[in-house]
Amino acid sequence: MTDTALMNQIAARRDDLIALTQGLIRIPTLNPPGLNYREICEYLAARLRASGFAVELIRAHGAPADSDRHPRWNLVARHSGTRPGDCVHFNSHHDVVEVGHGWTMDPFGGELRDGRIYGRGACDMKGGLATSIIAAEAFIAAHPDYAGAIEISATADEESGGYGGVAYLAEQGYFNPDRVQHVIIPEPLNKDRICLGHRGVWWAEIETHGRIAHGSMPFLGDSAIRHMGAVLEEIERYLYPLLAGKHTAMPVVPEGARSSTLNINSIHGGAAEQDVDYTGLPAPCVADRCRIVLDRRFLIEEDLTEVKAEVTNMLEKIRAERPNFSYEIRELFSVQPTMTDRDAPVVRTVQAAIETVLATPAQFVVSPGTYDQKHIDRIGKLHNCIAYGPGILDLAHQPDEWVGVDDMMDSARVMALTLSALLLPKGSP
Ligand SMILES: [Zn+2]
Repeated sequence: MTDTALMNQIAARRDDLIALTQGLIRIPTLNPPGLNYREICEYLAARLRASGFAVELIRAHGAPADSDRHPRWNLVARHSGTRPGDCVHFNSHHDVVEVGHGWTMDPFGGELRDGRIYGRGACDMKGGLATSIIAAEAFIAAHPDYAGAIEISATADEESGGYGGVAYLAEQGYFNPDRVQHVIIPEPLNKDRICLGHRGVWWAEIETHGRIAHGSMPFLGDSAIRHMGAVLEEIERYLYPLLAGKHTAMPVVPEGARSSTLNINSIHGGAAEQDVDYTGLPAPCVADRCRIVLDRRFLIEEDLTEVKAEVTNMLEKIRAERPNFSYEIRELFSVQPTMTDRDAPVVRTVQAAIETVLATPAQFVVSPGTYDQKHIDRIGKLHNCIAYGPGILDLAHQPDEWVGVDDMMDSARVMALTLSALLLPKGSP
């Protein structure tokens, strides 16, 4: 590490990094429903204004879940250097998922114990957000004469799809490649790993139809559940083996996700379930409706049209063979897979910084599920984007979630060296 001035600036901020992470954890930004979004944006705004950033608070008016009771607030802060150059943007989501059971620590206490900070969102991803702020502030202090700009954003609703956060900002032009050239999302992928992108998603609901009749004379009706049984049988017999045979060159972790996958999220058929305090018997009826929800994750080598056709062709085949089979299919949601090129500038730069700081080769991974990169890629048309940040992904959404202070410090060094490489003219320290 040659940039001693920069590394000293990082080292001097250890206590500040801890305090900032704790401060963020202590604002419970639970989603759903989306609590305290304005409070966390104002907390960050005060901090970043004091560090010389120009700050905007942006409400995602009209986005899904935005309401006067639970407004979707986002923060975008920009610091400009002394000369024109590229803009490096760090994007973190400020929302956290529900607490759940099994905690031994206060989920919103931000307690520091044995080098770990505990709390809901510690690793996913308030630790990463704090790390990027410390890295930027240290870089600006060491190199106030840099070229270009640094942006920090804290955005809403990543945990529920990102429509009131990054998607909204991308629609407003905040991720236009004319404005921002490099994006780092400090999700908890571990300090030595670069996440290049994610697999695709297709959700669909299939409904089979029948005819209601008395349960003692089922031959007078037509059971939608039996029709769905035929669908499930075909999924087992035909679809699962087909998907298991598809492999990707994407470095997805865990390795089981390097094939196409399908989860049947739910199944509902026949009479609605009664309240738990209902003490009577069910009524005897033939089910006239049955529904399943499919969660299909697909690979960059697959085409969404082909993914849909596999399912609709299967259903048509059943219709051709099975008397009285009728169905509907409704698409609920889809996301294209994305993977940033390994030679993209932000990838090469962060890779070199990891190798300098940690003296170990950087690893490249792809996420099995999606995150906000999807909106930056698709709406923003900005493809020079990765996820890189401190924390252990497996701890996300778990009880006693924590982030390690040493890991955050190392990641801050990597982020700060990345800023040096992208924003300092070649040859300067
Ligand atoms: Zn996250």
